[in-house]
Amino acid sequence: MDTVFTHVCLWTLLAFALTWTVFYVTNMKKKVKELADAAAEERRDGAADVIIVGAGVGGSALAYALAKDGRRVHVIERDMREPERMMGEFMQPGGRLMLSKLGLQDCLDGIDAQKATGLAVYKDGKEAIASFPVDNNFPYDPSARSFHNGRFVQRLRQKASSLPNVRLEEGTVRSLIEEKGVIKGVAYKNKAGEETTALAPLTVVCDGCYSNLRRSLNDNNAAVLSYQVGYISKNCRLDDPENLHLIMSKPSSTMLYQISSTDVRCGFELFPDNFPSIAKGEMATFAKNNLAPQVPPKLRKIFLKGLDEGEHIKVVPAKCMSATLSKKKGVIVLGDAFNMRHPSVAAGMMVLLSDILILRGLLQPLSNLGDVTKVSEVIKSFYNIRKPMSATVNILGNAFSQSLIASTDVAKEAMRQGCYDYLCSGGFRTSGMMALLGGMNPRPLSLIYHLCAITLHSIGHLLSPFPYPLRIWHSLRLFGLSLKMLVPHLKAEGVSPILFPANAAAYRRSYMATTAL
Ligand SMILES: Cc1cc2nc3c(=O)[nH]c(=O)nc-3n(C[C@H](O)[C@H](O)[C@H](O)COP(=O)(O)OP(=O)(O)OC[C@H]3O[C@@H](n4cnc5c(N)ncnc54)[C@H](O)[C@@H]3O)c2cc1C
Repeated sequence: MDTVFTHVCLWTLLAFALTWTVFYVTNMKKKVKELADAAAEERRDGAADVIIVGAGVGGSALAYALAKDGRRVHVIERDMREPERMMGEFMQPGGRLMLSKLGLQDCLDGIDAQKATGLAVYKDGKEAIASFPVDNNFPYDPSARSFHNGRFVQRLRQKASSLPNVRLEEGTVRSLIEEKGVIKGVAYKNKAGEETTALAPLTVVCDGCYSNLRRSLNDNNAAVLSYQVGYISKNCRLDDPENLHLIMSKPSSTMLYQISSTDVRCGFELFPDNFPSIAKGEMATFAKNNLAPQVPPKLRKIFLKGLDEGEHIKVVPAKCMSATLSKKKGVIVLGDAFNMRHPSVAAGMMVLLSDILILRGLLQPLSNLGDVTKVSEVIKSFYNIRKPMSATVNILGNAFSQSLIASTDVAKEAMRQGCYDYLCSGGFRTSGMMALLGGMNPRPLSLIYHLCAITLHSIGHLLSPFPYPLRIWHSLRLFGLSLKMLVPHLKAEGVSPILFPANAAAYRRSYMATTAL
C-alpha cells in the first residue's frame, strides 16, 4: 500500500514538475518574443530615414530609388494584394525612359506587357495612324507599353522590397503625427489590427487619388471632370495590337488597346449629366446602342465581346488637381495625392516617375533628412524644377480631353476636326504632337506652339472656302475657346515657373544626371 502511495505521489510530483516546466518555458518564450518585438519596434521606429504611405506606383518606385541611395525606407501599404484597377495601364515612351533612369525598367518584363508604337485615330469613317517619332534627342526606344496595372504594381513592390533597407509592411495609415508644424511620422493600424506608430525624419504621402492625408497638408482641391467607364474583352486580340485605338465618337471618345496578349481594354468617357446605371444594365445597353455603331467594323466585335459576356464594368472619376506646396514641414506629397490631370493623355505615371527622379536627385546630397530647413528648401526647388514638364503634360491632358468632346457648337466642332486633321496630317505636326503626348518632348513652348498651330489650322478650315461673316464670328469664338483651354491652365500652373529658363535648365540637368539607362 505504502509503495503504491509513494508511486502516486512521485508521479503526481513529476507531472506537476513537467507541467510547470512546459508552462515556464512557453511563458518565457512569449516574454522573450514580446521583448524582441518591442525592441524591434523601437529599432524600427527610430531607424527609418523615410516613411512612405502607400505602395502604389509612386510609393514603390520612390522606396526603391531612395533605398538605392542608402536610405532606410519604411513603406506602409494598406492592401498588399495585386490591385485590379482601370488606371495606369499605359506607360508612355517618356515614362519608360524615367523608369529606366530609376533602374526599374525590368518591372515591365514578365507581366505580358504589350508594345505600343502610337495611336490609330478614327473620326467620321476616316482613320489615320500617328506614331511616336524616332527622335535623336530622345535617348530611348520610342515605344510605349500597355499592361494590367496590378501586375506592374506588384513587380514594383517586389523590386523595392528586394532591397534589404526597404521594409514593406501591410497597414493602414490613419493620420500624420505632427509637432509644431513638423510631421514626425504616422499613426497606423498594422496587419494584426493593432494601432501603432512609426517615426522618421521624412514622411512621404503617396496614397493616391483618394488620399485622405493630403487634406491636412495641401489646400488644393480635386475637380471631377468626367468619368472613365471601362471593361475588358477577354481572349481576343486586336488586328493592330501595337496601336492604341482612339475613336472620336459622340458624345465623347472611345478607346481600345491591348493590355495583355489576350485582353483588350475597352473604355469611354461619360459626363455626370448622362450617366446610365451599371446595375440595371443601362450602361451596357448605352455602349451597345450608342457607341458600338461608331466603332469601326474591324474593332466592333471586340468592343461588343466584353459587353456580351457580361464583363464587370468599372467607373473611375477623371480628376484634375493642380499641385501646391505643403504648409507643413518634414513631409512631401507625391503622385495623385499631389497633382492630377485628365487621363486622356495617359501620363500620370510618367509625371510621377519624373517627379521621383527630380526629388531623388535633390535629396542625394543631404546626409541628414532630419534637417527640416534643408529638406524644405529641397521641396521648394522640387516644386519649381518639375514645373516645365508637369505643367506641359497637365495642360496638354486638359486641352486634349476638351477637344475630344463632341458638340453641336460649330466653333467647338471645328476645333475637334482641326485636332484630328492636325494630329493625323503626318510630317512634323504629327511627330510634334506625338512627341508631346508620348512625353518625349515635354516642353511648354512646344505645347504652346502646337496648340496655336491647331487653333490657326481650325480657323483656316472654318473660313474656307470663303470667309462669310458668320464664319468669321465662329472663328473668333474658336479663338476664344482655345484661349480658354490654355490661359486658365497656364495661370493655375503659374506662368513664370513654367517658362522660367532656370527651371527648364534644372529639369534637364536632373533628367540627365541619373544614368541608370
Ligand atoms: C481612369 C484613369 C486612367 C489612367 N490611366 C493612366 C495611364 O494609362 N497611364 C498613366 O501613366 N497614368 C494613368 N492614370 C494616372 C495614374 O494611374 C496615376 O497617376 C498613378 O497610378 C498614381 O500613382 P500613385 O502612387 O500616386 O497612386 P496609386 O498607384 O493609386 O497608389 C496609392 C497606394 O496607396 C495605398 N493607400 C491609400 N491610402 C492608404 C493608407 N491610408 N494607408 C496605407 N496605404 C494607403 C493604396 O492602397 C495604393 O496602393 C490614369 C488615371 C485615371 C483616373
